[in-house]
Amino acid sequence: MTTLLTSSIDENAIATITWDMAGHPMNVLSEEALEAFQALWTKHANDDAIKGIVVTSARKEFIVGADINMLWKMRRYEAAKVFSENQRLSLLFRDIETHKKPTVAAINGDALGGGFELAMACRYRVMTDKEGAKLGLPEVMLGLLPGAGGTQRLPRMIGASEALQYLTTGKNMRAQKALGFGVVHELASDTVAAAKSAILGGKVPAKAPWDEKSFALPKEQPQSPEWTQTFAGAGAMLRRQTQGNYPSPMRIMACVYHGLQLSMDKALSYEGRQFTALFMGDEARNLIRTGWFGRNAANRLEKRPKGIPDTQFTKVGIIGAGVMGAGIASCTAQGGCDVVLLDISDEAAARGKQHVEDYFARQVKKGRLKPEEALKIAARVTATTDYKALEGAQLTIEAVFEDRGIKAKVTQSTEAVTDADHVFGSNTSTLPITGLAEAADRPENFIGIHFFSPVEKMPLVEIIRGEKTSDKAAAVAMDYVKLISKTPIVVNDSRGFYTSRVFGTYTREAFCMLSEGISPAVVENVGKATGMPMGPLELIDMVGIDTGHKITHETIKEVGWETMVAKGEPAKALEVIDWIVEDAQRPGQKAGKGFYEYDEKNKTTRIWPEVYAKYPSNGAPVDVDELKKRFLHIQAIETLRCMEEGVVTAADDADVGSIFGWGFAPFYGGVISYVETVGLPQFLAECDALAEKHGKRFEAPQMLRDMVAKGESFYPDETAVAAE
Ligand code: NAD
Repeated sequence: MTTLLTSSIDENAIATITWDMAGHPMNVLSEEALEAFQALWTKHANDDAIKGIVVTSARKEFIVGADINMLWKMRRYEAAKVFSENQRLSLLFRDIETHKKPTVAAINGDALGGGFELAMACRYRVMTDKEGAKLGLPEVMLGLLPGAGGTQRLPRMIGASEALQYLTTGKNMRAQKALGFGVVHELASDTVAAAKSAILGGKVPAKAPWDEKSFALPKEQPQSPEWTQTFAGAGAMLRRQTQGNYPSPMRIMACVYHGLQLSMDKALSYEGRQFTALFMGDEARNLIRTGWFGRNAANRLEKRPKGIPDTQFTKVGIIGAGVMGAGIASCTAQGGCDVVLLDISDEAAARGKQHVEDYFARQVKKGRLKPEEALKIAARVTATTDYKALEGAQLTIEAVFEDRGIKAKVTQSTEAVTDADHVFGSNTSTLPITGLAEAADRPENFIGIHFFSPVEKMPLVEIIRGEKTSDKAAAVAMDYVKLISKTPIVVNDSRGFYTSRVFGTYTREAFCMLSEGISPAVVENVGKATGMPMGPLELIDMVGIDTGHKITHETIKEVGWETMVAKGEPAKALEVIDWIVEDAQRPGQKAGKGFYEYDEKNKTTRIWPEVYAKYPSNGAPVDVDELKKRFLHIQAIETLRCMEEGVVTAADDADVGSIFGWGFAPFYGGVISYVETVGLPQFLAECDALAEKHGKRFEAPQMLRDMVAKGESFYPDETAVAAE
């Protein structure tokens, strides 16, 4: 059996329990580790010869939280069992807190989630003064709450309003801040030595402050005017931020509100019940499945073609130093390799390099990089007009104008100076990869590498395989995405690929609603209420309505309008986009005019009044639920079509792509998890009803009908777990 924890006793009779989980990338609260910890702690706590116990870690980090694999396995439990497992941990921590033997946390590195909760249960805490070490309770991001006393001890230390800010956002607390709050008692470079002297020096209190009769909460007292203000304000703010879609921050608030009015023991039981309710819910499952497992698997390149050696990048070429190319250059340089940024003129190339330098200067200003690091990274980018500079590159990505002819020329010029195994990536947003690859002498090395704007910020990269793209080229593209610390999904070629194609249905549905006489404000608010990051009109303004317009008309030219209509394309949506771009000449935010008006800082002020005039409300009562369904179902249906056509080959790719590509309502876990959450038979019935009322675009693909008929699921493993 591998060792997870060790313990030792020094000459002063102080026991030290050290977390050091062999075979794990980090210290986590796994089932086995907790058992080992409990056994060691109980042994030393009940040994009269021991003066005190120090809990620490031999790793860089202290403990970074619960083992998510363990949590995931608990999804098969009944609620009562989840609750009892939760209470087992909570009571162990409470035992540490109330035991006569002093236990001190020597927090030598990051203490997150359950790791921070364990530290808070110790009656004295020493934290490392190492730069960057942090404390935090990130459970909310997985749709959960800190269920081992975190919602109780933190507010008892720093007050309800401060604690809510950490608990409901998952943000981190640095050492100095923690010291200022009294969350830790001291900072030290040798945390174990300091913890031991705290025990020997009698600094560890006999009871936790909240177990003293005289204890009063810091800041707002229960039922005081400040208390009411805190909770009324926080409730309203959360409602605004989450639109009521995320139950975890609300339950966290309930834990703080009710828990602080109870004894610690009762409060822990209340917290446990709230944890269980969240744990059993759909949101936690969805967020864990896609946000944790799905994304991590993508980041680990689990779907990378097998048997191809890892690519060692030394030089990457980027052609086109515009908005996208310069952003790609910044990310590539940050990934640690040399970048050749090529454009048609010296001025254009220099502008791109300037963009890179400005970006890193902003990172310095925000404290994310040291000035010398920023200079070093930016210096990796060479601006040029000379193709010769691409010699020796493993990969080149073009981000020139969206024009087949220009892209073809650029492809050929690059191939002329690069090796036979050099991979050429196109950042085209719409042009099918197979067609673009026709210009290449080595089409097997041609692949789509689709970034999202703003490149530096957006986490996803969609890799598109053309008909002739080789496994080797796909592997190189995936290695590259890993190099720049983004998340890849690999899809097959299709018009609009996967992400743009599905995302487009959200705004198209909004255009349909406008033309039906649904007020623009209602359209926007319902869009946001579904959990999408923005209303559809604001979103298309940001992306560029003119781009959408151009893509639509190109598609019409190539596919034919009749064919599109026969497949369900709504003519009324086309009228809206033609009106705003052609008649009203409002291409979107970049021009300071779109569906919205913009101030001098280019921020939205209000919806352009003419939109109301052109599309007045029909005055009919609004069925918000149906509008929400239209927004979400239409995206899910298009995704199912992508799966049916083999554009997307796995449900988890679709889910990860939708959340990290265009921000599809994360609490649903992505487009396919949304269908699963609704339930396949129910979803199908709703599609049928929507198709009947609104037309063919809502018709569900045959694949879904077949799956429903056979009782299948996109995530059969979980069904198997649930049925056990
Ligand atoms: P942009 O107009 O900002 O930049 C294009 C750059 O390419 C310009 O600097 C231009 O001088 C340069 N260029 C043109 N012809 C060239 C040639 N023959 N050789 C070298 N350089 C040349 O455009 P952008 O928004 O950065 O878009 C670039 C590509 O990325 C397009 O294919 C676009 O569809 C795609 N894309 C854009 C977005 C977006 O949101 N802007 C998102 C994803 C993909």
